[in-house]
Amino acid sequence: MIPASPPAETALPASTLIDGFGRRVDYVRFSVTDRCDFRCVYCMSERMTFLPRARILTLEELAALGRTFVELGARKIRITGGEPLVRRDVLWLFQRLGRLREHGLAELALTTNGSQLERVAAELKAAGVARLNISLDSLNPARFRRITRNGELDTVLRGLRAAQGAGFRRLKLNAVILKNRNHDEVVDLARFAVDNGLDISYIEEMPLGVIGDHDRAEAYYSSDAIRADLARAFELVPTAESTGGPSRYYRIPGCDSRIGFISPHSHNFCGDCNRVRVSAEGRLLLCLGQEHSVDLKQILRAYPCDRERLKQAIVAAMAIKPRGHDFQIGKQPVILRHMNHTGG
Ligand code: SAM
Ligand code: SF4
Repeated sequence: MIPASPPAETALPASTLIDGFGRRVDYVRFSVTDRCDFRCVYCMSERMTFLPRARILTLEELAALGRTFVELGARKIRITGGEPLVRRDVLWLFQRLGRLREHGLAELALTTNGSQLERVAAELKAAGVARLNISLDSLNPARFRRITRNGELDTVLRGLRAAQGAGFRRLKLNAVILKNRNHDEVVDLARFAVDNGLDISYIEEMPLGVIGDHDRAEAYYSSDAIRADLARAFELVPTAESTGGPSRYYRIPGCDSRIGFISPHSHNFCGDCNRVRVSAEGRLLLCLGQEHSVDLKQILRAYPCDRERLKQAIVAAMAIKPRGHDFQIGKQPVILRHMNHTGG
């Protein structure tokens, strides 16, 4: 049986991962595959070339990395991708990482497009996944398909219900808002979240990779514009709540739902960044919007039994974590890797 996670007040050693700006890094995201069954227009181009299997980290390597990060003081691991749940045998990884709660991991989380949730929600819950973010950009099936290129809204909604049925609480929707694609749905999405007891975060599109579908400057719809739209339908009260990520949250009085904004352009969130990412290829990415990175796969494969060497590399990498990203609307992407490699 998997043990319960330690109570929040349990004193655990603070993270030893501190960057050159004094920021404590206690949150790591793993992109466990670059593959996906959707092709969201802001994330990928229609025709993508995916990495050959030998170049992506094995599940065993990911489990070893998880353990190493937790030993270095990481409190939160989020599994992302690509679509994590299309990776074969990925439940094994969730089970292994879930056991790290005995060793100081406070939260195992997953970001998913929801397409496979109906099948695996109960097993994810049993493995110890505490928090689920589900991407949902539209409640209109035809529009949902246009944005995801392949996605079926109904499948995702069934996945959401399965997650609720499996006992997941505080599910969060992620909605990337694009002008003239889904900006007119922000109120409907909030209402859906409120009616179903969900949190929701609205995300400004980030310029990662060449996507070919639209001009990102033209599609830009700011968090301030979204908030103004929402304010016509709801009273929004700012809060200081955090889920450990970059969302800034508001509450609607009388509702349990949190309304979040992830605003890389309009409200840079780098000042209190506590995160690093590991790409599907095993690169430790020190910043979502910069190229500073360290090749952990090379260390894992050259010295598979040398955990100390891996730890030293991760600790040393903190020195090159940049102050912040440099996303600029209207400029060609400075970051050529797509979000599915990076792990959103
Ligand atoms: N496939 C899963 C999903 O869609 O939830 C996990 C990976 S996806 C890359 C993680 C999150 O990144 C999703 O919420 C997605 O909407 C968001 N995302 C992808 N590309 C983005 C971009 N260019 N700008 C902002 N958010 C993006
Ligand atoms: Fe796939 Fe997620 Fe990217 Fe959409 S956002 S293409 S679901 S990885």
